[in-house]
Amino acid sequence: MDYDVAIIGAGPVGGALACALATGGKQVALIDKAALPPMEHPHFDGRAYAIAAGCKRLLDETGLWDALPFTPCPILNIKVTDGKPGRPPSPLSLQFDHTQVGDEPFGWIIEARALRIAINEKLHSNPNITLFAPDEANVTRSAEGVTITLKNGTSFNAQLVVAADGRNSQIRAQAGIPVTRLPYHQSGVVCAIAHEKPHNGVALEHFLPGGPFAQLPMSASAEHPHMSAIVFTDKTDIANRLHILDADRFTKEVARRLGPQLGRIQLIGKRWTYPLSAMYAARYTATRLVLVGDAAHGVHPIAGQGLNLGLRDVQALADILTDPAVTDLGDTGLLAAYQAARRPANMTMLAATDLLDRLFSTNNPAIRLARDLGLAAVERMPRLKARFMRAAMGN
Ligand SMILES: Cc1cc2nc3c(=O)[nH]c(=O)nc-3n(C[C@H](O)[C@H](O)[C@H](O)COP(=O)(O)OP(=O)(O)OC[C@H]3O[C@@H](n4cnc5c(N)ncnc54)[C@H](O)[C@@H]3O)c2cc1C
Repeated sequence: MDYDVAIIGAGPVGGALACALATGGKQVALIDKAALPPMEHPHFDGRAYAIAAGCKRLLDETGLWDALPFTPCPILNIKVTDGKPGRPPSPLSLQFDHTQVGDEPFGWIIEARALRIAINEKLHSNPNITLFAPDEANVTRSAEGVTITLKNGTSFNAQLVVAADGRNSQIRAQAGIPVTRLPYHQSGVVCAIAHEKPHNGVALEHFLPGGPFAQLPMSASAEHPHMSAIVFTDKTDIANRLHILDADRFTKEVARRLGPQLGRIQLIGKRWTYPLSAMYAARYTATRLVLVGDAAHGVHPIAGQGLNLGLRDVQALADILTDPAVTDLGDTGLLAAYQAARRPANMTMLAATDLLDRLFSTNNPAIRLARDLGLAAVERMPRLKARFMRAAMGN
């Protein structure tokens, strides 16, 4: 059996791409070195994605949205503040209300395991997708086509291979595509909390000297009526110390950064720590190869955009490849069109998140004053605010 497209990596980006191409009638082979069922954590594990409004279209069209087992929580308001842990935030803050730009929420907070369960269900039920996991692929590319040989010796052809194998992509390395990495010397700490008072759909981005602190509203569970995901960054040595604190002391550290607005808080699920760096590939294409998702780019999680960029790659690539007029999916012109559609946009987001982190992760009093005045100035400019809001939604 030969395939139209072979995708290496069944993470959220590779999985969503397989669903999008299969929905468009393409025959897809999807290979992951890991087995997929263990990725579905049976218990709440505290990790969640902020999915921008613009990416919901892809999840809707592929049926992934309807397959989510837990209801996503809409983000109705975003509050941006500046401060220091344990002290009240600066009164010069920025408030974004979704009703100022329409009826649609800014985005949704989706439990990471919910997205995984939905992707796994679709990968198994769509007859146009053949899944090889756990397995590993040896990839040979030429101007004529792609040959994939699996570990057991099975071999098949495809017109195009897609590298969706994450930040340390082997396929990208084998193609000799260079990457640039920007270390942040920061780590991301991720957990979830139950709290006494309702969040009312408000997401908080609180800029602290060690790095940004985000509280993202989550849907209620049977046990906890009020829940939020927490993602914050701090210098790596501090994040490592936080990681080994007992639950009580860790919760106090979260509360110092969050402030009192949600009342008493309680840590639920696990806590996770990720070393942070930005990264970008010099190009997204080679002979009959394209890069998508974290294989092509990695950004600071300050704006929760990493997976959103990957889903936009998927949308752009699927739109190009499922055009009925296209006969050769590995055509260099098509691949160039994909790179032109996505690389500049991804580089802009990388630069913006990098600048935001540098601007806000500092204690320099002059920069603090300038950014507080900047927040207050933007707050008084409704047109500029509306542009920021549309950009956050991906519209
Ligand atoms: C702290 C933190 C918070 C974040 N929060 C958000 C957020 O709120 N919103 C958001 O949009 N993004 C967020 N992100 C970013 C998001 O997690 C990533 O952008 C996303 O997981 C990338 O998905 P991917 O499928 O490209 O790569 P991955 O998730 O890395 O998946 C790669 C897949 O490839 C497989 N693989 C690897 N090598 C091979 C191989 N040789 N052969 C076969 N298979 C292979 C792996 O097993 C894996 O399944 C966050 C990131 C961090 C660190």
